[in-house]
Amino acid sequence: MKNKRNPSVLIIGAGATGILSAIRLRESGITDITIIEKADRVGGTWRDNTYPGVACDIPSHHYCFSFEPIPWKHQCAVGEELQDYMEYVGHKYGVTEAVRFNEIVTSCVYDDLGKWTVKTDKGAVFVVDFVIAATGLLHHPKYPEIEGRDEFAGASWHTARWNHDVDLSGKRIGVIGTGSTSHQVVPELVKAGHDVSVFQRTPQWVFPFPNVKFPEWLRKRWQKKPERMKFWKQCYKTFIEQFIIKATVGAPVQGALMKALVKAHLRFAVRDKTLRRKLTPDYGVGCKRLVVNTTFYSAIQKPNAHLLTEGISRIEPKGVRTTDGKLHELDVLVFSTGFHNFNFMRPMEVVGRNGHTIEDSWGAGRFRTSRAILMEHFPNYFLMLGPGSPIGNNSVIGIAEEQVEYVLKLIDLWRDKRADEIEPTPEAVQSFTHYIKDGLEGSVWVAGCDSWYLDADGVPAVFPYPWHDFVKSMASVNTHELTMRRLEASEVAHAV
Ligand code: NAP
Repeated sequence: MKNKRNPSVLIIGAGATGILSAIRLRESGITDITIIEKADRVGGTWRDNTYPGVACDIPSHHYCFSFEPIPWKHQCAVGEELQDYMEYVGHKYGVTEAVRFNEIVTSCVYDDLGKWTVKTDKGAVFVVDFVIAATGLLHHPKYPEIEGRDEFAGASWHTARWNHDVDLSGKRIGVIGTGSTSHQVVPELVKAGHDVSVFQRTPQWVFPFPNVKFPEWLRKRWQKKPERMKFWKQCYKTFIEQFIIKATVGAPVQGALMKALVKAHLRFAVRDKTLRRKLTPDYGVGCKRLVVNTTFYSAIQKPNAHLLTEGISRIEPKGVRTTDGKLHELDVLVFSTGFHNFNFMRPMEVVGRNGHTIEDSWGAGRFRTSRAILMEHFPNYFLMLGPGSPIGNNSVIGIAEEQVEYVLKLIDLWRDKRADEIEPTPEAVQSFTHYIKDGLEGSVWVAGCDSWYLDADGVPAVFPYPWHDFVKSMASVNTHELTMRRLEASEVAHAV
């Protein structure tokens, strides 16, 4: 540690991956850390999504930092529980106190001399050695491009911007979209007795995984002896890694079992043949992100719920008109229409080596990275959960824990004075791109659907291999994949 250089690192975002990055950087002896967060609290996804029914669909013992297990209340933590957890960890590790809240990074510009200049909307300017973009991937709400969307006379909002000020009692509510979010929010609205019309464009496969509440006696046992939770974590980890992930990446036995389960779920939960037909997807199981839910099918069969599959022709002041000409009158319209999937750190300006912009790299809707973390032309700039990460079938916290260790190894090359600039070689980016493409064959993501995983070429930006391959790929840095430049002392001095 004594002879190591101490870099300055700027982290964009104080969600789960930003908190984690700050904790691990500090633990590895890096002290010059700046964290910038656009909102007024840590938490990311779990701060932004407060819709009724919001919950994680990954088991909580698996969806938490490995170094900070807690006696969770639910098998899959609900939104509030997760937000509390993020705030608890942020405080406990002294991250929250270090965050600059309510500040938006507007630009990151590389000076070709080993430094990034980062500017914010508050007029602050930081000159740093490394940037970690911990900005999350599904955070910019996507509103549908439906004619007349702005003409609706009632209240309307996106699920990620839930309006808690509107009293929903006695209201006729329309929900557009039937992804994971809609499957959580619709049952809550139906249960509350509202009249709910669900506009479905494409049905989803639904994996039945009930969200049970853990009994108090069990939570007390965990509280008393936290190591007891290890067993539970291991069970969930094995279930995800050996069943869910393997089923998605093409393992025949797990894949067949997964198919059988979701099909049986639909068959037994929806007895009416006409409704079941409407809810049956025509693409492979898991191609779109598998919905994990046990409440939607029963909710949609309640008398106050209506599943509309005719397609929307336009939105009018009084409601939604479907292609059969019928106007569905509504008081409230909720857009459960997902997110701009590849925004990552954008819309901020990111300018790398030789004036190369992020739009030059990603503008055409293709997202090339090396190991999901590094981008060509952007030295010393690291992505958390970047394109090519094993998202969609595992805990993003577990993924980020592996990625942050890889980032620390990269930064170590700088700290050990082996490099001032670290960038992937073009060959490394190409080889990672081919590696991903090769692995996709036989995976569920190419099973004939349109999904938010797809880039402009229709290539899913995921990691289509078993979990242990990912862990292995993060275990050590192959310096042959990197262009590591040492800058002249005079140049570096000038940059400072
Ligand atoms: P989503 O999966 O992208 O679903 C968006 C829905 O809106 C789809 O049903 C889509 O239909 C529909 N839609 C979009 N534009 C439309 C239009 N113009 N007309 C009609 N329908 C339209 O979004 P999401 O449900 O918010 O979920 C996004 C991701 O967030 C999930 O896949 C999951 O990874 C994550 N998530 C996780 C949890 C969790 O518990 N961990 C919970 C919620 C969300 P098409 O299918 O036809 O495009």
